[in-house]
Amino acid sequence: MSGAKITRAAVLRLYPNQQQASSLRRWQGGLRYVWNAALDCVFTARDINGRWPSKAEIHALIVGMKKMAGTEWISDMPAHALLTLSDDLHKALVNWFNGLSGKRKGPKIARPRFRGKVAKQLSVYMVNQNTSFGDGLVKLPKLGKVKFRGCDLPAGRLLSSRVYREADKWYMASIFECAVPQMNAAPVECVGIDMGLKTLATIYDGLNIREVPKLGALRKHEQRLKRYQRRMSRRVKGSRRRNQAKQAVARLHQRIANIRKDYAHKATGEIVASAQTIKVETLNVKSWAKNRSISKSTADASVGMFLSMLRYKADWAGRSLVEVGQWEPTSKTCSDCGAREPGVVLGISRWVCRGCGAIHDRDHNAAKNIYAYGEERRNVTGNTVESAWTGGDQAGAIPLVPQDETRILKRIGRESSRALV
Ligand SMILES: [Zn+2]
Repeated sequence: MSGAKITRAAVLRLYPNQQQASSLRRWQGGLRYVWNAALDCVFTARDINGRWPSKAEIHALIVGMKKMAGTEWISDMPAHALLTLSDDLHKALVNWFNGLSGKRKGPKIARPRFRGKVAKQLSVYMVNQNTSFGDGLVKLPKLGKVKFRGCDLPAGRLLSSRVYREADKWYMASIFECAVPQMNAAPVECVGIDMGLKTLATIYDGLNIREVPKLGALRKHEQRLKRYQRRMSRRVKGSRRRNQAKQAVARLHQRIANIRKDYAHKATGEIVASAQTIKVETLNVKSWAKNRSISKSTADASVGMFLSMLRYKADWAGRSLVEVGQWEPTSKTCSDCGAREPGVVLGISRWVCRGCGAIHDRDHNAAKNIYAYGEERRNVTGNTVESAWTGGDQAGAIPLVPQDETRILKRIGRESSRALV
């Protein structure tokens, strides 16, 4: 076994008792106070001294608050939380300067802000040394033993943990340093995966087609979400009942996100366990979402999350992931003879190949093409037919269109010329 290490994260749900929960809430408020006070001092120091305080000076400033009259309570907070806060504040300032001077590329970084009560709460950081897990309880610095539930913890060294609140629930995200896991040899050599709107993933392993259906159970929740949101908007801003309604919306949002995540975890885990090489088409999810008629289905399909999970899980398991570019003609090439059929556009689910007469399911055919991606394509006589990929663009292709799809096609027809290759 090699000494290679990877980092893995785990998120646990915490069940603090009343006293612990009130400590956590107090610490969050305390951190907000420290952040604002320190930021204020930083700006004042800049005005007086004509230069920005250093990292060490910011840290000394925050430590000094522990001894100041009126803010002695700061020393009751976990020391690591204050240390991280001081690092975060310094980093926020540096990012801001580098953004201004052009040293840092990318979107403009805003000036570090004062934190309001309503805005996202600061996380409470916990150190590794004083955190220990066991028997459904996690021992946290200054908090004692807290009940938790969650996934199996990665076997490794705990690097750090962050306790945060979402809606009305407490969570702890922990990062571990682990050895690269030894995966069993995969049952098949390769799978090709087509991601789609109708079916989340269509998987071809060289012999069989398997489909991962779209998560349908969410429609019900989403309708309820709409109702909750309407209810919230009817209520008077700032009122207690409005806040209640707002919390209900937040809880449901989270529930939906959790269901999606869970589903994607299971599906991607199975795929990574099943094959040594995973070929998948990387789609431009954003361009789908722009098309309003399918944006909802896109969100449902959770394609982006699925792909990112595949990436890191393949990495952990030592599998190779081949990403097939989105402009490869995977759906409009016949997987039997290699002829290209330009008439296959978004919305067509079945079509007939004019080259060999095969009837294709759009997704199945695409999965087979992705499976064969990067390998030389041969026809029945054993000759390479690579030329067909580029030379088969004859006009007048006749897609097989069942009655109920003509409506979709009419709409798609207008877009096909620019939307698809
Ligand atoms: Zn064909």
